[in-house]
Amino acid sequence: MIVASTIASCRSELNQWRQAGLSIALVPTMGYFHEGHLALMRKGRELCDRVVASLFVNPTQFGPHEDLAVYPSDYDGDCRKADQTGVNLLFSPKTDLMYQQAHQTTVQVHELTKGLCGKDRPGHFQGVTTVVAKLFNIIQPDFAIFGEKDFQQLVVIRRMVADLDFPVKIIGHPIVREKDGLAMSSRNVYLTPEERRSACILSKTMHVTRDAVLAAADHLSVSALLSQAKTLISGEKNCSLEYFTIVDEHSLTPCDVVKGKCRAMGALRVNERIRLIDNMPLY
Ligand code: AMP
Repeated sequence: MIVASTIASCRSELNQWRQAGLSIALVPTMGYFHEGHLALMRKGRELCDRVVASLFVNPTQFGPHEDLAVYPSDYDGDCRKADQTGVNLLFSPKTDLMYQQAHQTTVQVHELTKGLCGKDRPGHFQGVTTVVAKLFNIIQPDFAIFGEKDFQQLVVIRRMVADLDFPVKIIGHPIVREKDGLAMSSRNVYLTPEERRSACILSKTMHVTRDAVLAAADHLSVSALLSQAKTLISGEKNCSLEYFTIVDEHSLTPCDVVKGKCRAMGALRVNERIRLIDNMPLY
């Protein structure tokens, strides 16, 4: 695996592949790799001749009181895991390379970023779309693979790609979970064993909601499902709910009845310190 830390060295490798007619998949990440990240890399291998993973903890997607300074990292472990998973090039730039001092351009998707995590994390999605647009311009991949773990992010990126005519196909990958159902996340390392047990209430509630929808003979009303979900989560110690809602998968607008492609979306805080998100299709 080649490790490139400058845009020039990354581009010179990629140019050789392109000249040889090889297709390129990109997996953007912030590192501290777990099976969720590795599944995206394997998907890239399936789809393309070459896989590039980017490893960049993007400061502009963190709010002032968020965990940028303590975001987990394991550079050597990440290099080893990416290499073993078949990544051909790891692009790992320093912050001042991605954001020069004079940087003043941003990319913003407007409506889709207003609700859900956009409400709790102002500026987050603008940071995401700006860095992903830069990565698309640097790498110019044929495919880019994103996890459904960050489902709102996936929908926002699809919108950006359509609106700005990026010549890249966006592939969503289902959430990879721990045995107990918790969605894998680099941030799970912050959880104590007790907090970890409590955190599982989010995925359990997703499953309860999904089971109720799949078992129902008719379209269910969302309000009954949401009050059941909120009761379950409020009964769990250490946890406070940021949001739990059911939305249309494409528009991300709240549904009144569960009909068509709807998805449960949720975010909770464990002991206020740790913010976790999850979602599940209800079809
Ligand atoms: P991150 O490093 O957390 O920014 O994540 C990088 C990519 O991996 C994003 O597209 C995430 O949605 C995806 N990802 C993170 N965790 C999971 C998971 N448990 N299952 C599937 N994809 C994931």
